Amino acid sequence: MKKSIIFSAPSGSGKTTVVKHLLNVMGDNLAFSVSATTRKPREGELDGREYHFLESSVFNQHIQDNAFLEYEEVYAGILYGTLWSEVHKIWNANKAVIFDVDVKGGLNLKRQFGEQALAVFLRPPSVEILMDRLTKRSTEVEHQLKERIAKANYELSFEQQYDLVVVNDDLSTTLKECEQIVQNFLNK
Ligand code: ADP
Ligand code: 5GP
Repeated sequence: MKKSIIFSAPSGSGKTTVVKHLLNVMGDNLAFSVSATTRKPREGELDGREYHFLESSVFNQHIQDNAFLEYEEVYAGILYGTLWSEVHKIWNANKAVIFDVDVKGGLNLKRQFGEQALAVFLRPPSVEILMDRLTKRSTEVEHQLKERIAKANYELSFEQQYDLVVVNDDLSTTLKECEQIVQNFLNK
């Protein structure tokens, strides 16, 4: 069966950390859906690895061409979208797809895939801890950081709509828990 695992959460909750870990330990069975975005790469990010970094005009052309399963303006003026081409490539390699998308995108994917998908909401222990983690990550300039924190409470209100919620408190416990959850889903 063509399976998908969706990880969603407010920015700074730990999605990237968890997804990278799962790919390290379960990479034979899982592959990451590289999204498209109009944001600029951060230091250390590579085009085609973290994201397909696109000009807005190219992103808009992909919208016209129905190349996306879903896309969202996650932050003001910045678009992110899941490409059908990524999903097909991974399924054709007989692997399950793993997504790191925002909360609305995650629910949109779950609606499309139904029982074939497991939608996991990764929750920070508190908004204060989330702020602290985002600030320490220091990848955003001040106004972007504020925008992400301001959005967190809104995003947290979506958690009941997910199949499962994992509270990311102690990291090693979270990683073990997520490994178990994904393994159980793949074994079903
Ligand atoms: P997201 O992809 O959801 O925005 P990241 O995976 O980038 O989040 O995590 C945000 C920051 O918090 C990173 O610097 C990461 O190293 C750190 N982090 C993630 N999980 C934990 C945890 N359980 N305890 C402490 N720091 C964490
Ligand atoms: P960042 O800029 O920190 O990499 O990501 C910002 C937010 O965009 C994160 O919540 C991330 O999960 C989300 N995101 C990344 N790719 C996609 C996508 O393809 N679709 C949607 N809806 N959100 C995405």
